[in-house]
Amino acid sequence: MPKSRIPAGGAAAAFGLGMLAIAPAALAQSGGGGVVYVAKPQISKVACVRRCASHKRAQGGSTLRVTGTALDGVVKVVFRGSRGRSDDSSARVRAGSATRLSVKVPIGAVTGPISASVSRTVQSLPTRTIAILPPPPPEPNTELSPVPGVPELETGTSRTKAFVDARRAVTFSFRMSGAAPSAVAVELVRASDGAAVKTWNPVPEPDAVTSVWWNGRIGSAGAKPGRYSFRLTASEGNGATVRSAALEESRRDAFDLYDNIFPVRGRHDFGGRGARFGTGRVGHSHQGQDVFARCGTPLVAARGGRVQFKQYHAAAGYYLVVDAAGSDEDYVYMHMAEPSPFSPGDRVYTGQRIGSVGDSGNARGCHLHFELWRGPGWYDGGKPFDPLPSLRAWDAWS
Ligand SMILES: [Zn+2]
Repeated sequence: MPKSRIPAGGAAAAFGLGMLAIAPAALAQSGGGGVVYVAKPQISKVACVRRCASHKRAQGGSTLRVTGTALDGVVKVVFRGSRGRSDDSSARVRAGSATRLSVKVPIGAVTGPISASVSRTVQSLPTRTIAILPPPPPEPNTELSPVPGVPELETGTSRTKAFVDARRAVTFSFRMSGAAPSAVAVELVRASDGAAVKTWNPVPEPDAVTSVWWNGRIGSAGAKPGRYSFRLTASEGNGATVRSAALEESRRDAFDLYDNIFPVRGRHDFGGRGARFGTGRVGHSHQGQDVFARCGTPLVAARGGRVQFKQYHAAAGYYLVVDAAGSDEDYVYMHMAEPSPFSPGDRVYTGQRIGSVGDSGNARGCHLHFELWRGPGWYDGGKPFDPLPSLRAWDAWS
């Protein structure tokens, strides 16, 4: 294999030593047994050109103009977000010129570098960080309202913010006037990649309201957080098809899904250093984060699951341990004002009330002592970890 072959155009120098590692992946066997070089795209400039936020910044739904070299084979632009793949999203692009392409920012994209892919192994180096503002919020339409341009169809969605494993995280309703449609499909579309992650085929009565609901799960696992929307397609008796929204529309019948809700439902603060995870206690270290709030403030399950323990302990007071559904993490709530109404084995849902903030046990002031444990779980081989970053994130959105 001619591993040292260098592409025409002189881009190789810029890659330096990295080129040696990257080049073999870019070589492909041609039909005649020789080797063809698949040019590696390179991005030199990224600019927001349409539907931008203020000051030409990008947001979900904006169009970016990408300038560079060897862009004509690019099929996909990856928005890499922060470290790790969990927040990556990508957008298909049509091959245009070699020096320029346009790409629409996925609704779920977050600030980070982008890269352009020709195939799984041939892609550009990541750019510098591209700032991407959060997309505009979904438009609430909790009451049925006519679909623009489709007067015979009304739709509505119960909420714009939903939580994984809530009992009925979100409900979509619709009503069609006139003849009964022959077939109806309601798809739940994930904005980050446009995939329909779930489909319902309800059989509606003419002029009656029909609803479907979702619990934020796909199978037994929690769905990926982010923007989702309901899309209805109905075939009418006369062969016509009506749709509740265009595919790229991400605000109508849309909602944002979050994986946890903040457990203290009232004014609260995270206290001082002594309230932090890992600070010293007599004979042990603090295994959780304290959240201060008035006694009696409602406490809800940050994440649904099955109750593992409900007990009273001289130090912890009334406490509850919930084994999160679809994960092996445990959620621990201590110093509750009174015993939780739930018992071991009971199913609780995200956002469901499990008790009140109190000062039972050895507590200085009313507060929730909250712990998060990695699998296999609480005093069952798992380990506690600092819950404050999670609590702060949940607090910001719920
Ligand atoms: Zn504590």
